[in-house]
Amino acid sequence: MSAVPASASATGPAPAPRRRIAIDGPAGTGKSTLARTLARRLGGAYLDTGAMYRVATLQVLRAGIDPEDSAAVIAATADLPLEIGTDAGAECVLLGGEDVSEEIRTARVTADVSAVSAVPEVRENLVRLQRRLASDGGTVVLEGRDIGTVVLPDAEVKIYLTASPEVRARRRTDQDLAAGRAADYDEVLAAVIERDRKDSTRAASPLRPAADAVVIDTSDLTLDEVLDRLVALAEGTHASHGATAEGNAQ
Ligand code: C5P
Repeated sequence: MSAVPASASATGPAPAPRRRIAIDGPAGTGKSTLARTLARRLGGAYLDTGAMYRVATLQVLRAGIDPEDSAAVIAATADLPLEIGTDAGAECVLLGGEDVSEEIRTARVTADVSAVSAVPEVRENLVRLQRRLASDGGTVVLEGRDIGTVVLPDAEVKIYLTASPEVRARRRTDQDLAAGRAADYDEVLAAVIERDRKDSTRAASPLRPAADAVVIDTSDLTLDEVLDRLVALAEGTHASHGATAEGNAQ
């Protein structure tokens, strides 16, 4: 820990203690909204690591490369001109200086992101950047699939959000429709199940809860209810709250 006790600082306020919060889980658990809101609530930074894999995928697609061709994917993403902000209030994702925050959410990118993110070399590059962005001190919330297991195995707080595929597909469909993107529930459900399968069965950093993560099933909880639990976990006041939906991962 890099925290300095207040009494040890003669020149000014002590730096905020380091609090790295890892939030993992599959798509449609409310992870992004919750992680972003939690970061804002705690006055911390926020990093959407899924956006980084999406940018790598966009680069591959724009280059006309088959996402299943690992060698070509590695070559196309080796010097990825990616810039990503960590301000929970004003996120920006740039590829070669161009704002691609909308384009990385298209169905085309979503369909191919699992293949690109399964390539170990792609992961190594992005994990290095993620660790660097998380090392600034203070509070930082990272959301993804492997934050608690691989990126920050010693994170102060680890949370794994889950929900049934049907609930997640419904949420994703509603989210897409609200954002003006075309979405059909049955297609979204099939895509959710397929992406879960690929993400959790890949050899490199598969989607799974860390052994010491608190698992929260959000199927029957509102976003506010989950947020309350996350805040309590982040502030270390969790023990005084009801723990009906939570349990430590096995
Ligand atoms: O979170 P989001 O749905 O945007 O993530 C897109 C994809 O990026 C995931 O389906 C997964 O394949 C990949 N990903 C990953 N590791 C992370 C974050 C995302 O492999 N830490």
